[in-house]
Amino acid sequence: MHIQENVPLAPLTTLGVGGLAKYLVRATTSDEVRKAVDFSRARNLPLFVMGGGSNLVISDAGWPGIVLHMDVRGIDERSENGKALFEVGAGETWDSFVAHSVTRNCAGLECLSGIPGSVGGTPVQNVGAYGQEVSETIESVQVLDLRDGQLRELCNPACGFSYRTSIFNTTERGRYIILRVTYVLEPGGEPQIEYADLKKFFATTQKTPTLQITREAVRQIRASKAMLIVPGDDDCRSAGSFFKNPILTKEEHDDLVTIAQAKSLKVPSYPALAAQRKVSAAWLVENAGFQKGYTKGPVGISHKHALAIVNRGGASAEDVVALKSEIQRRVEDVFGIRLHPEPVFVGFKEEANSQGA
Ligand SMILES: Cc1cc2nc3c(=O)[nH]c(=O)nc-3n(C[C@H](O)[C@H](O)[C@H](O)COP(=O)(O)OP(=O)(O)OC[C@H]3O[C@@H](n4cnc5c(N)ncnc54)[C@H](O)[C@@H]3O)c2cc1C
Repeated sequence: MHIQENVPLAPLTTLGVGGLAKYLVRATTSDEVRKAVDFSRARNLPLFVMGGGSNLVISDAGWPGIVLHMDVRGIDERSENGKALFEVGAGETWDSFVAHSVTRNCAGLECLSGIPGSVGGTPVQNVGAYGQEVSETIESVQVLDLRDGQLRELCNPACGFSYRTSIFNTTERGRYIILRVTYVLEPGGEPQIEYADLKKFFATTQKTPTLQITREAVRQIRASKAMLIVPGDDDCRSAGSFFKNPILTKEEHDDLVTIAQAKSLKVPSYPALAAQRKVSAAWLVENAGFQKGYTKGPVGISHKHALAIVNRGGASAEDVVALKSEIQRRVEDVFGIRLHPEPVFVGFKEEANSQGA
């Protein structure tokens, strides 16, 4: 187990804000994970588990306890009933694993290409993009249960997956450390080309694209929106989409349509959103007056994506939170809808306790 003291956390995140971790522990095996937990308990310090740092806003005060940097690796493949099962260490880089699954000609993750972060981060918010969510392919999640120190294998229904949620970021937040995730994929399966952007990309293609070509297309589309981390592109110094698409009741949706009509606006309706009565948070943000490229000191909104709050260099967590609150207030004033952030806030007063394990 590798322990460092007073480590800056900002460089370990994609947004690049936040203070120091009192201790940073890198764990490469389940045993080291246990030792890190023992270390935090012996000192009565709060524990926070960090994967790739791509969905985090870390406070300027940092983390007063132990940050466990998950680095458990390994990909094991086996066949069962014509399916391919991949058991993957939580510390593997997500996109490298997706690339591996595509190389093995297994379908199910191709639309999730290019998402930053670790394998262990994917069940937490049920990562999704371009028509796929990991909940569709996760067979089980191996965890260390901090309540009793037992290793458990949680089957898919036990993870309580829903839109950007699971038990890991709701009811059981802070209880489990994810060690491995098993995905069940379709050998030789066809890519899922259902999302509007992907359909448009392949509109003039006659043949069904391969998984590899679909992966390249997804990465290309993501790069055009700064949703792929590309060195040198300042618009990707973000935590991805900062707000979730709100899911409305019928009454709330009717109210929104009325407000929009009074402003000569039409609420966009895409099949993927309409099925769950989801409204595009990006549309709400833009039509509340925040254009792409909006800048406020060292923070702003990406030039390529209205939902990404970007650190333009030297931003603090306080700058990020101030812009987040300004956007929330304006969207609520204009449309009567409260936007909820997607990233995890770490080390802020109200979150500090609930993040501790
Ligand atoms: C440019 C960009 C594009 C993005 N695009 C998408 C997208 O299309 N779809 C999408 O869903 N997300 C997207 N994201 C968000 C982010 O990449 C995902 O949520 C990712 O899965 C987070 O994984 P991570 O390893 O970076 O987790 P972290 O950011 O390190 O942590 C996030 C949360 O997961 C917990 N966690 C992480 N690993 C473990 C573990 N092993 N055990 C227990 N808890 C753990 C942490 O404690 C924290 O609460 C994007 C982010 C960026 C920067």
